[in-house]
Amino acid sequence: MSAQQPQRIPQDFIDTLLDRTDIVDVVDSRVKLKRSGRNYTACCPFHKEKTPSFSVAPDKQFYYCFGCGAGGNAIGFLMELEHLSFPEAVEELARKAGMDVPKQEQNLSPAAIAAQQAKAQARNQAYDLLEQANLYYQKQLRQHPQRKQAVSYLQERGLSGQIAQRFGIGFAPSGWQNLLDELGTSDTTQSALINSGMAIKKPDSQRVYDFFRERIIFPIRNSKGKVIAFGGRVLGDAKPKYLNSPESAIFHKEKELYGLYEARQQQRDLKRLLVVEGYMDVVALAQHNIHYAVATLGTATSHHHLERIYKMVSEVIFCFDGDAAGIKAAVRAMHTSVPFMSDGRQARFLLLPQGEDPDTMVRKEGAEALTNLIANATPFSEFLFQQFSQDLDIHNLEHRAKLATDMMPVIQSMPKGLMRSMMISKLEDYTGLNQDTLAQLTAVNDPPAITAKADTALSDHHEQATINTDFVDTPTGDAPYAPPIPPDYVQADNYWQAKESWPTQPTTHHQQGYQKNHHIQQRQKASVQNPAQGAIRLILRHPTLAQNYAQIPDHLRQLRMADAGVLVRLLEICQQIQTQLQRAPKAAELQSECTTLEAWPMMRELAAMESLTVASDHTSQLQEAIDKLHHHYFDQRFDDLSQILRNSSGEEQINTAKKQLKSLLSEKETLQKMQKSR
Ligand SMILES: [Zn+2]
Repeated sequence: MSAQQPQRIPQDFIDTLLDRTDIVDVVDSRVKLKRSGRNYTACCPFHKEKTPSFSVAPDKQFYYCFGCGAGGNAIGFLMELEHLSFPEAVEELARKAGMDVPKQEQNLSPAAIAAQQAKAQARNQAYDLLEQANLYYQKQLRQHPQRKQAVSYLQERGLSGQIAQRFGIGFAPSGWQNLLDELGTSDTTQSALINSGMAIKKPDSQRVYDFFRERIIFPIRNSKGKVIAFGGRVLGDAKPKYLNSPESAIFHKEKELYGLYEARQQQRDLKRLLVVEGYMDVVALAQHNIHYAVATLGTATSHHHLERIYKMVSEVIFCFDGDAAGIKAAVRAMHTSVPFMSDGRQARFLLLPQGEDPDTMVRKEGAEALTNLIANATPFSEFLFQQFSQDLDIHNLEHRAKLATDMMPVIQSMPKGLMRSMMISKLEDYTGLNQDTLAQLTAVNDPPAITAKADTALSDHHEQATINTDFVDTPTGDAPYAPPIPPDYVQADNYWQAKESWPTQPTTHHQQGYQKNHHIQQRQKASVQNPAQGAIRLILRHPTLAQNYAQIPDHLRQLRMADAGVLVRLLEICQQIQTQLQRAPKAAELQSECTTLEAWPMMRELAAMESLTVASDHTSQLQEAIDKLHHHYFDQRFDDLSQILRNSSGEEQINTAKKQLKSLLSEKETLQKMQKSR
């Protein structure tokens, strides 16, 4: 701050800053806090003591020491602990909250000061009013003569009174002026109700009426538990099914996450967050002890959301319905996540079976089944490749080039790090193009986010695609990065079910055993088998090729890929015959030896399949397939290590995993060099 021109920070800014700051986070990151009832305690940092008398109250956003009498808000705490001036402490908190401190001439006009004070007052009034409305709705759920319908709706959904209470669920009865009669008795309170979105004034008739009528009411709380808006779910057949308070001075829906406050109340140091679409999903999951779900409020997942989320946790799972809208929402979330994907962070994607949402799913299948699905959600890198290689034939050179041009700009907007390097080398594997060529492709095809116009057009499209049509809210387009994809590329309704297609073959857990219902995907062209199937086919037709693999490579045995186990078994059989006959088996001999295998029907199909490539050099074709499997094995280890990075909190463990990742990367480079020199 300049000494000649003393400046002050507007009160309004300080209020907003304190709203967006949680004193518990501020203190806890400096003095480790322990939960004690509603409050947190620690040994006082301001005087010497052995038993804790220092306490932080999240609801009051205040700290106090019963030993030495120190006390104050978050700004005061920083000033005291780190010997900062007031502006310095504000600066520090603003940096954390991602806000810029506005500077203001000290000699403000009285009118300007009055305006500021009025603004601050209106803000506090809005909080008070919304809290009163909250209490009113909750009371109606307990007492109103019409409450039965609401209560039985909640009971049918399996919600206990305890959960309803924790989320502050309420009931807005039918009628036009219930809340107005209760809280809007004077002109001042009536206009405050209008300003906070709780009442609507019809411009023509001047009539004022309640915004929420005949709905289950879900209070939307900010990170400190203050009610800032409401969501309402209709009880009858009225439209829209879900309704959110309009935006106001204290409610910005693209920044808020429903359930975040409640989740943190349950567990302060969250490891992961599950992003779902509706309030009922959040509440139903909490009822089943899954306490880390949050919902966006009728908007797509925004970069504001992700900024907040990744400050708290390193792992996000996006969980959407498996219908076309859900898939598009997931794809949109994937694109918004790209710039956040630095090492150690993870985003995963879970699309539920069609017609299910987390609420119906957890009630039908139970918490354990859903937790399993969550644990096995598709990792970001895999989801990205799935999306981009959709409908592409990897053996077609043009398609490969398309994959590279589409994906490279996306990967390059990831933060620099191991994960990004890994993705680039994965793309090299898939396309057979080296890094230099890939870089050139990116230079020629700039990402479409360059002009504001293209940006808007794309985000408009994707907004539309992601909105749950049950909502009336107008979402805000805010993606900093526009996805370079054609609008209609998610077409096939059943594509999620077809996710087993190469190159993103999921892993089967037991390798040797073969599931009867598993057969080659006939939908696909014969050329798009996975590399394990490709190798099986070649060996079945040309068993002499197996002689080159008398030593079965270790990575094949450890690979968790469908049919890798079958390939290993096939190589073993070749060896057995070789030992018995002192020569390589003939195709007929080998195949008759395999008829007893559980996987034989699939193998027979493969053996009968004509290759689309010119039958020339089988040796190098097989080598290529085995190399691909080797790369899959690298990817598998990469995923395993990322999982360790994600789930462990020990510094030593993390450092070891990082070292292993580095050496993995160089191993992979060595392999690539070897392949090129062949
Ligand atoms: Zn003290």
